[in-house]
Amino acid sequence: RGRIRFSGAGVTYPNGTVGMKNLDLAIEPGEFVVIVGSSGAGKSTLLRAVNGLNRLTAGSVEIDGRAVPQREGRELRELRKGIGMIFQDFRLVKRLNVLSNVLIGRLAHVPAWRSMFNFWPQADRDIALDALQRVGIPEKAWTRASSLSGGQQQRVGIARALAQQPAIILADEPVASLDPVTTHQIMRDLVRINRELGITTLVNLHFLDLAREYGERIIGLRHGELVYDGSAKKVTDED
Ligand code: ADP
Ligand code: ADP
Repeated sequence: RGRIRFSGAGVTYPNGTVGMKNLDLAIEPGEFVVIVGSSGAGKSTLLRAVNGLNRLTAGSVEIDGRAVPQREGRELRELRKGIGMIFQDFRLVKRLNVLSNVLIGRLAHVPAWRSMFNFWPQADRDIALDALQRVGIPEKAWTRASSLSGGQQQRVGIARALAQQPAIILADEPVASLDPVTTHQIMRDLVRINRELGITTLVNLHFLDLAREYGERIIGLRHGELVYDGSAKKVTDED
């Protein structure tokens, strides 16, 4: 589970901007891939193509041999359940506690009363607590999301993705809002979790140094085109 294949894939936005051009790319199950490029290079466009958030105008993208549907509907909703998203701005529900935020990864709709009375299906609750354990903050389960530090909030973001028990994790500039120390902690968490669970992981970063340090495989983008695909050891600024 978690194989991704782009074939001649392109995205031209309705206003004519080219976000992605003729991309051929195969990512194998369990890979940890860093996508690097300056702002506007097409990193988000690539990630959003994987979960069908933007429509391809050329070619195709397949997950485990099945084409990603190019219109909203039941099929796309099902596919997205198997893809965890991690965001630069965390996107937590600030007034809810941490456990409820993690459960959003499984239950999509988390009513306030359930959160208030801690009333959850046992299986979902166990999976959410396990996810919090994995990111190292089980003791924060009952804390309001709004009172956490940035790094802790991003750990909740990672736990929410894990609670989906996804085949794929997409992290769009997950450390761009964090200080340098926290940045390295979160990157190490992402690498460790990838190794432990074998979830195919795509991480967008705009700093090459960070990409080099953590990417096992680095994909370089410029103006929507693939300009580098290889190991972290070999990549240079020239690429
Ligand atoms: P990155 O994530 O590397 O910063 P993006 O994928 O966000 O790059 O953007 C790639 C290009 O597509 C940029 O020129 C950006 O302005 C453009 N773009 C992104 N989203 C849209 C959109 N919804 N409509 C039009 N252009 C867009
Ligand atoms: P990020 O840096 O998180 O990728 P962006 O700044 O690229 O975010 O985009 C933020 C939002 O604005 C996205 O929904 C994107 O689709 C849209 N967007 C980005 N560039 C353009 C553009 N040139 N024209 C229209 N919408 C855009």
